[in-house]
Amino acid sequence: TRKPIIAGNWKMYKTVQEAKDFAAGLLESLEKLENGTNAEMVICAPFTALAALKDELEESIIHIGAQNMYYETQGAYTGEISPLMLTELACTYVIIGHSERREYFKEDDALIAKKVKTALDFGLTPILCVGENLALREAGQALVFVQGQVENALRELSPEEIRKIVVAYEPIWAIGTGRTASPQDAQEMCAAIRATLARLAAEAAQEIRILYGGSVKASNIAELMDQPDIDGALVGGASLDFLGFTELIGSV
Ligand code: 13P
Repeated sequence: TRKPIIAGNWKMYKTVQEAKDFAAGLLESLEKLENGTNAEMVICAPFTALAALKDELEESIIHIGAQNMYYETQGAYTGEISPLMLTELACTYVIIGHSERREYFKEDDALIAKKVKTALDFGLTPILCVGENLALREAGQALVFVQGQVENALRELSPEEIRKIVVAYEPIWAIGTGRTASPQDAQEMCAAIRATLARLAAEAAQEIRILYGGSVKASNIAELMDQPDIDGALVGGASLDFLGFTELIGSV
Protein backbone atom coordinates (compact mmCIF):
# COMPACT_ATOMS: atom_id res chain seq x y z
CA THR A 1 0.00 0.00 0.00
CA ARG A 2 1.18 3.44 -0.94
CA LYS A 3 1.06 6.28 1.58
CA PRO A 4 -1.03 9.09 0.10
CA ILE A 5 0.48 12.52 -0.45
CA ILE A 6 -1.34 15.83 -0.35
CA ALA A 7 0.98 18.51 -1.69
CA GLY A 8 0.13 22.19 -1.90
CA ASN A 9 1.68 24.20 -4.70
CA TRP A 10 1.46 27.85 -3.76
CA LYS A 11 2.81 28.99 -7.14
CA MET A 12 3.74 32.71 -7.03
CA TYR A 13 1.67 33.49 -3.96
CA LYS A 14 2.52 34.46 -0.37
CA THR A 15 5.02 36.82 1.15
CA VAL A 16 7.22 35.70 4.05
CA GLN A 17 4.72 37.00 6.57
CA GLU A 18 1.81 35.29 4.83
CA ALA A 19 3.74 32.04 4.74
CA LYS A 20 4.42 32.25 8.49
CA ASP A 21 0.79 32.95 9.26
CA PHE A 22 -0.29 30.05 7.06
CA ALA A 23 2.11 27.61 8.72
CA ALA A 24 1.03 28.52 12.22
CA GLY A 25 -2.64 28.39 11.21
CA LEU A 26 -2.30 25.05 9.46
CA LEU A 27 -0.57 23.36 12.38
CA GLU A 28 -3.24 24.61 14.73
CA SER A 29 -6.16 23.61 12.55
CA LEU A 30 -4.72 20.17 11.74
CA GLU A 31 -4.75 19.41 15.46
CA LYS A 32 -8.50 19.89 15.45
CA LEU A 33 -9.09 17.40 12.63
CA GLU A 34 -11.35 14.78 14.12
CA ASN A 35 -9.90 11.72 12.50
CA GLY A 36 -6.43 13.08 11.86
CA THR A 37 -4.88 12.13 8.55
CA ASN A 38 -2.68 9.38 7.24
CA ALA A 39 -1.54 11.51 4.30
CA GLU A 40 1.98 12.79 3.90
CA MET A 41 1.62 16.57 3.69
CA VAL A 42 3.87 18.84 1.67
CA ILE A 43 3.88 22.60 1.11
CA CYS A 44 5.71 23.75 -2.02
CA ALA A 45 6.41 27.42 -1.46
CA PRO A 46 8.18 30.21 -3.33
CA PHE A 47 11.95 30.26 -2.66
CA THR A 48 11.65 33.45 -0.62
CA ALA A 49 9.29 31.78 1.88
CA LEU A 50 11.33 28.62 2.42
CA ALA A 51 13.47 29.92 5.27
CA ALA A 52 10.38 31.00 7.18
CA LEU A 53 8.75 27.63 6.60
CA LYS A 54 11.89 25.90 7.85
CA ASP A 55 11.51 27.81 11.11
CA GLU A 56 7.82 27.03 11.39
CA LEU A 57 7.58 23.49 10.03
CA GLU A 58 10.93 21.70 10.21
CA GLU A 59 10.03 19.94 13.46
CA SER A 60 6.47 19.23 12.36
CA ILE A 61 4.85 16.47 10.29
CA ILE A 62 4.59 18.79 7.30
CA HIS A 63 7.24 18.48 4.64
CA ILE A 64 8.66 21.47 2.78
CA GLY A 65 9.10 21.57 -0.96
CA ALA A 66 10.29 23.98 -3.64
CA GLN A 67 8.59 24.58 -6.97
CA ASN A 68 11.67 24.43 -9.19
CA MET A 69 15.47 24.25 -9.06
CA TYR A 70 18.46 24.23 -11.38
CA TYR A 71 20.54 21.12 -12.03
CA GLU A 72 23.95 22.54 -11.10
CA THR A 73 25.25 22.75 -7.52
CA GLN A 74 26.70 26.24 -7.96
CA GLY A 75 28.05 28.45 -10.71
CA ALA A 76 27.41 31.47 -12.90
CA TYR A 77 23.69 30.91 -13.43
CA THR A 78 22.12 34.24 -12.58
CA GLY A 79 18.71 33.95 -11.02
CA GLU A 80 18.81 30.20 -10.47
CA ILE A 81 18.58 28.16 -7.26
CA SER A 82 20.59 24.99 -6.64
CA PRO A 83 19.55 21.76 -4.94
CA LEU A 84 22.11 22.45 -2.22
CA MET A 85 20.37 25.70 -1.39
CA LEU A 86 17.09 23.83 -1.07
CA THR A 87 18.34 21.06 1.19
CA GLU A 88 19.90 23.72 3.43
CA LEU A 89 16.40 25.16 3.88
CA ALA A 90 15.00 21.78 4.97
CA CYS A 91 13.33 21.05 1.64
CA THR A 92 12.73 17.38 1.02
CA TYR A 93 10.55 17.72 -2.08
CA VAL A 94 10.85 19.71 -5.28
CA ILE A 95 8.32 20.10 -8.09
CA ILE A 96 9.96 19.51 -11.45
CA GLY A 97 8.49 20.25 -14.87
CA HIS A 98 5.24 21.90 -13.84
CA SER A 99 3.23 22.78 -16.94
CA GLU A 100 3.60 26.47 -16.11
CA ARG A 101 7.41 26.04 -16.24
CA ARG A 102 7.14 24.11 -19.48
CA GLU A 103 4.86 26.69 -21.05
CA TYR A 104 6.07 30.09 -19.79
CA PHE A 105 9.73 29.27 -19.17
CA LYS A 106 10.22 26.89 -22.08
CA GLU A 107 11.40 23.92 -20.03
CA ASP A 108 11.69 20.83 -22.20
CA ASP A 109 11.91 17.13 -21.42
CA ALA A 110 15.72 17.12 -21.65
CA LEU A 111 16.08 19.89 -19.06
CA ILE A 112 13.46 18.28 -16.84
CA ALA A 113 15.28 14.94 -16.99
CA LYS A 114 18.48 16.62 -15.77
CA LYS A 115 16.63 18.31 -12.93
CA VAL A 116 15.00 15.07 -11.81
CA LYS A 117 18.36 13.31 -11.78
CA THR A 118 20.03 16.11 -9.80
CA ALA A 119 17.20 16.28 -7.28
CA LEU A 120 17.65 12.57 -6.58
CA ASP A 121 21.41 12.99 -6.28
CA PHE A 122 20.80 15.50 -3.50
CA GLY A 123 18.22 13.40 -1.68
CA LEU A 124 15.28 15.55 -2.75
CA THR A 125 12.10 13.79 -3.84
CA PRO A 126 11.15 15.14 -7.25
CA ILE A 127 7.46 15.59 -7.96
CA LEU A 128 7.60 15.16 -11.73
CA CYS A 129 4.66 16.91 -13.39
CA VAL A 130 3.20 15.70 -16.64
CA GLY A 131 -0.04 16.43 -18.47
CA GLU A 132 -1.59 17.14 -21.83
CA ASN A 133 -3.27 20.26 -23.16
CA LEU A 134 -6.86 20.38 -24.41
CA ALA A 135 -5.95 19.96 -28.08
CA LEU A 136 -4.10 16.71 -27.36
CA ARG A 137 -6.95 15.45 -25.18
CA GLU A 138 -9.52 16.19 -27.88
CA ALA A 139 -7.33 14.57 -30.53
CA GLY A 140 -7.25 11.38 -28.46
CA GLN A 141 -3.48 11.64 -28.00
CA ALA A 142 -3.33 12.37 -24.29
CA LEU A 143 -2.22 8.91 -23.11
CA VAL A 144 0.59 8.55 -25.62
CA PHE A 145 1.79 12.12 -25.04
CA VAL A 146 1.91 11.85 -21.26
CA GLN A 147 3.55 8.43 -21.36
CA GLY A 148 6.21 10.01 -23.57
CA GLN A 149 6.77 12.80 -21.04
CA VAL A 150 7.28 10.24 -18.28
CA GLU A 151 9.65 8.17 -20.35
CA ASN A 152 11.70 11.17 -21.47
CA ALA A 153 12.13 12.37 -17.89
CA LEU A 154 13.10 9.00 -16.42
CA ARG A 155 14.75 7.02 -19.18
CA GLU A 156 18.32 7.53 -17.93
CA LEU A 157 17.57 6.65 -14.32
CA SER A 158 18.12 3.33 -12.61
CA PRO A 159 15.12 1.42 -11.25
CA GLU A 160 16.30 2.26 -7.73
CA GLU A 161 16.24 5.96 -8.58
CA ILE A 162 12.85 5.73 -10.25
CA ARG A 163 11.48 4.08 -7.12
CA LYS A 164 12.04 7.33 -5.20
CA ILE A 165 10.15 9.73 -7.42
CA VAL A 166 6.58 11.02 -7.25
CA VAL A 167 4.63 11.70 -10.44
CA ALA A 168 1.87 14.30 -10.68
CA TYR A 169 -0.59 14.05 -13.54
CA GLU A 170 -1.95 17.52 -14.18
CA PRO A 171 -4.03 17.95 -17.32
CA ILE A 172 -3.37 21.55 -18.39
CA TRP A 173 -7.03 22.16 -19.18
CA ALA A 174 -7.94 21.37 -15.57
CA ILE A 175 -5.42 23.69 -13.90
CA GLY A 176 -7.01 26.73 -12.32
CA THR A 177 -10.11 26.31 -14.45
CA GLY A 178 -12.48 24.70 -11.97
CA ARG A 179 -12.82 21.93 -14.53
CA THR A 180 -11.53 18.77 -12.86
CA ALA A 181 -10.81 15.63 -14.86
CA SER A 182 -13.45 12.98 -14.18
CA PRO A 183 -12.22 10.37 -11.71
CA GLN A 184 -12.45 7.81 -14.54
CA ASP A 185 -10.31 9.85 -16.95
CA ALA A 186 -7.78 10.66 -14.22
CA GLN A 187 -7.63 6.97 -13.25
CA GLU A 188 -7.16 5.90 -16.86
CA MET A 189 -4.19 8.24 -17.21
CA CYS A 190 -2.64 7.36 -13.87
CA ALA A 191 -2.88 3.66 -14.74
CA ALA A 192 -1.19 4.40 -18.08
CA ILE A 193 1.56 6.28 -16.24
CA ARG A 194 2.03 3.33 -13.91
CA ALA A 195 2.29 1.01 -16.92
CA THR A 196 5.05 3.22 -18.31
CA LEU A 197 6.81 3.22 -14.92
CA ALA A 198 6.58 -0.58 -14.92
CA ARG A 199 8.37 -0.72 -18.26
CA LEU A 200 11.18 1.45 -16.85
CA ALA A 201 11.35 -0.06 -13.36
CA ALA A 202 9.22 -3.18 -13.07
CA GLU A 203 9.50 -3.78 -9.34
CA ALA A 204 9.24 -0.14 -8.32
CA ALA A 205 6.10 0.78 -10.26
CA GLN A 206 3.68 -0.44 -7.62
CA GLU A 207 5.42 1.65 -4.95
CA ILE A 208 5.52 4.97 -6.78
CA ARG A 209 2.97 7.55 -5.73
CA ILE A 210 1.04 9.10 -8.62
CA LEU A 211 -0.85 12.28 -7.78
CA TYR A 212 -3.62 14.03 -9.65
CA GLY A 213 -3.63 17.81 -9.97
CA GLY A 214 -6.07 20.26 -11.53
CA SER A 215 -8.88 22.02 -9.64
CA VAL A 216 -8.68 19.64 -6.69
CA LYS A 217 -10.76 20.79 -3.72
CA ALA A 218 -12.32 19.37 -0.56
CA SER A 219 -15.48 18.41 -2.44
CA ASN A 220 -13.80 16.29 -5.14
CA ILE A 221 -10.68 14.88 -3.49
CA ALA A 222 -12.34 11.74 -2.11
CA GLU A 223 -13.74 10.48 -5.42
CA LEU A 224 -10.38 11.05 -7.09
CA MET A 225 -8.46 9.23 -4.38
CA ASP A 226 -10.92 6.33 -4.49
CA GLN A 227 -9.34 5.41 -7.80
CA PRO A 228 -6.82 2.59 -7.52
CA ASP A 229 -3.91 4.38 -9.22
CA ILE A 230 -4.40 7.86 -7.72
CA ASP A 231 -2.32 8.21 -4.59
CA GLY A 232 -2.91 11.82 -3.69
CA ALA A 233 -3.13 15.30 -5.09
CA LEU A 234 -1.09 18.32 -6.08
CA VAL A 235 -3.24 21.26 -5.09
CA GLY A 236 -2.93 24.82 -6.34
CA GLY A 237 -5.64 27.32 -5.48
CA ALA A 238 -7.17 25.23 -2.70
CA SER A 239 -3.84 25.10 -0.84
CA LEU A 240 -3.61 28.85 -0.27
CA ASP A 241 -6.01 29.13 2.64
CA PHE A 242 -5.08 27.06 5.69
CA LEU A 243 -8.64 26.38 6.75
CA GLY A 244 -9.63 25.24 3.27
CA PHE A 245 -6.48 23.16 2.96
CA THR A 246 -7.18 21.54 6.33
CA GLU A 247 -10.69 20.70 5.19
CA LEU A 248 -9.27 19.14 2.03
CA ILE A 249 -6.79 17.07 4.03
CA GLY A 250 -9.59 15.98 6.31
CA SER A 251 -11.60 14.79 3.30
CA VAL A 252 -8.95 12.34 2.13
P1 13P B 1 -5.22 24.33 -9.24
O1 13P B 1 -5.45 23.38 -8.09
O2 13P B 1 -5.29 25.77 -8.84
O3 13P B 1 -6.07 23.96 -10.42
O4 13P B 1 -3.69 24.12 -9.70
C1 13P B 1 -3.23 22.85 -9.95
C2 13P B 1 -1.74 22.89 -10.07
O5 13P B 1 -1.21 23.33 -11.06
C3 13P B 1 -0.95 22.37 -8.95
O6 13P B 1 0.39 22.24 -9.30
